[in-house]
This record gives sequence, C-alpha cells and structure tokens, in this order.
Amino acid sequence: MKVNKEQYQTLKKELDSQKVELVAVSKTKPVADILELYELGQRDFAENYVQELLEKASQLPGDIRWHFIGHLQTNKVKLIVPFVQLIQGVDSLKLLKEIDKQGMAVGKQINCLLQVHIAREETKFGLNEEELDEVMKNLKDFTGVKVTGLMGMASFTENLILVREEFKKLKNLFDKQVQLQTTNHKLQTLSMGMSSDYKIAVEEGSTMVRIGSLLFGNRT
Ligand SMILES: *Cc1c(COP(=O)(O)O)cnc(C)c1O
Repeated sequence: MKVNKEQYQTLKKELDSQKVELVAVSKTKPVADILELYELGQRDFAENYVQELLEKASQLPGDIRWHFIGHLQTNKVKLIVPFVQLIQGVDSLKLLKEIDKQGMAVGKQINCLLQVHIAREETKFGLNEEELDEVMKNLKDFTGVKVTGLMGMASFTENLILVREEFKKLKNLFDKQVQLQTTNHKLQTLSMGMSSDYKIAVEEGSTMVRIGSLLFGNRT
C-alpha cells in the first residue's frame, strides 16, 4: 500500500488543533515511504528494532527525530543513545540504569518515557503501578537520563469501552506522578494512542500519538 498523504495532512491538522504530537511509526516500511512524509514536513518517526533504526537513520536526513518504541535490550542501548530523540517504552529500572550510564558516557541526558502496563494482555511490556512508583522514587539518582513522561498501549480489542478505561487509568497515573514529581524530571508527555484508538486516547488526555498503518498502510 502507498503512503496516504491526504490522511497525513488531515490527521496532522486534527492533532495540531489539539496540541497533540504526531509520531509516525515507520517500522517495516522502506526509507522511500519515510521520505514522502518527510517532504510533507514530518520529522518525528518511530522504529521498534535497533538494527532497522540504525540502517534507516544512516540513509535519511539528519534532522529526523527518531523515537524508539520497541522492547529495548540493555546491550543495544549504546547503539542508539548518540542520536535518539526519545526512548519510549522504558520498562525496567535496569534498563533505565543502562541508559543513564550510556547517556553520561556521551555527555547527554537521554529523554525517556516509562512504559506502563495498562492492557489486559499479559504479553505487553510495561511497569505496573507499584513498579512505576519505585522507578519514580529512584529518578533523582540519574543524570544521564531525563524521564519526560509515560507511555502505554491499550488492549488490542474491539471493546472500546475497555480501551477508554485503560487510557483513563494511564492518565490518572500520569496526573498522580506529575503531582509527586521530583525537580529535574518534568513529566510532560503522555504517549498513548495508535491508528485504531488514537481518537479515544486524545479524548482521554494523550499529548503524543504513535501512528503507523493509518499513514503507511497495513504492515505485512
Ligand atoms: C506498531 C506500533 C504502533 C503503531 O501501530 P499502528 O496500529 O500501525 O498505528 C504504535 N506504538 C507501538 C508501541 C507500536 O509497536
């Protein structure tokens, strides 16, 4: 399927009017497709495999802001730290510690979102509420990372009531952490919503959506 340029422009306008950031999820799609959206002005793109991200980044303009949205292995952190814009989906203290270490090694503070498990499915990654509290309590020890928000994925289901409940839950956790937050980590980003559920996510307070198939067509 082709890149849907009209869809991009409609979506971009819709999200801009609500001050929601659009991250285009380009996983599995060729660099030519990414360039098509780049030429329309899109700069934030997301990948979920390190190798694929490295290959694409090396072939594409340097002002693209790359987001990592996959499950990141600690031994791969140093490969993306020099250039990554935002690591979404940090799901353990161990991973955060490694990003901190690699961030310090390159003299940067790496922007991260903590991934919270809100879906019913066991297969999805993320921290539970207790683990989130625990990580947040440890944040003051870190100087090579900056936790700028939370990220979550709703259940993969047609039950939109459930999806909405899960987004509400994440928004509540976000608001609670904003209240408690420590000085050097300002939580401002709530990344929730994909092609099938972004409208609900925005209604429930999302500030960043991650959209793939709606823009690039279905993945095979
Ligand atoms: C693939 C993916 C998306 C985008 O999914 P679409 O349904 O294609 O919009 C968003 N977030 C994460 C974490 C993903 O892995």
